[in-house]
Amino acid sequence: MSNQRRPLIAGNWKMNGLATAATSELKELVALAKDHTAPKCDILICPPATLVREMASAAENSSVQIGGQDCHANDSGAHTGDIAAEMLKDAGANYCIVGHSERRADHGESNAVVKAKAEAAHRGGLIAIVCVGETLAEREADKTLDVISDQVRNSLPNGATASNTVIAYEPVWAIGTGKTPTPLDVATVHAHIREELAALMSDSAQVRVLYGGSVKGSNAEELMAVENVDGALVGGASLKAADFWPIVATS
Ligand code: PGA
Repeated sequence: MSNQRRPLIAGNWKMNGLATAATSELKELVALAKDHTAPKCDILICPPATLVREMASAAENSSVQIGGQDCHANDSGAHTGDIAAEMLKDAGANYCIVGHSERRADHGESNAVVKAKAEAAHRGGLIAIVCVGETLAEREADKTLDVISDQVRNSLPNGATASNTVIAYEPVWAIGTGKTPTPLDVATVHAHIREELAALMSDSAQVRVLYGGSVKGSNAEELMAVENVDGALVGGASLKAADFWPIVATS
């Protein structure tokens, strides 16, 4: 990891979690973070929206921060079932994931939509975690870097800075499959993302670029040691504090 960029280890709980069990996992994570004086990374949990307020309250006065998993591109209005960034902020969130591949695939979110959502996250006072990543078919067709360029250029919000935006590289085929790219493949894509960002942002050198996709305790050290990897976006292994903590502890 880079010395200048403070790593971010982020958990994405996806559509998992009921209040009682989730609170006890969060409290366990908070206790682990408290015992570990001055963690060398930022720690984030993105629970389902129904749990944001409760998790934020369980994490109060700790180094664990809370985020949303998605927000609407508009700030308020007639959008049944949707959630505005400002509502997440009001409930205690500091971050919001946008453009996760499950949102892109299940809800047809284009780069333009992801960009609009990231801009909405900023207006709502949240740090946007913008996800990019190629499918297996794209990787096999040798299109990975082209796909990543297109996603970075067209999903990056206007006004993106290193303090309000994080990029997460998540190969779609690595999510929830137990498969991960080789460290060399991760290094190649992260270097490419950095090159793209350099053309788009003045403080690109400070932007954190996370890796996500089947990160777990047993592979975190190797993946986090890859050049230009500034942390992780973790799905399955973030649901239990006991699984998530070893990943946090690698940084
Ligand atoms: P995974 O999910 O760690 O379960 O592969 C990562 C993600 O989707 O963010």
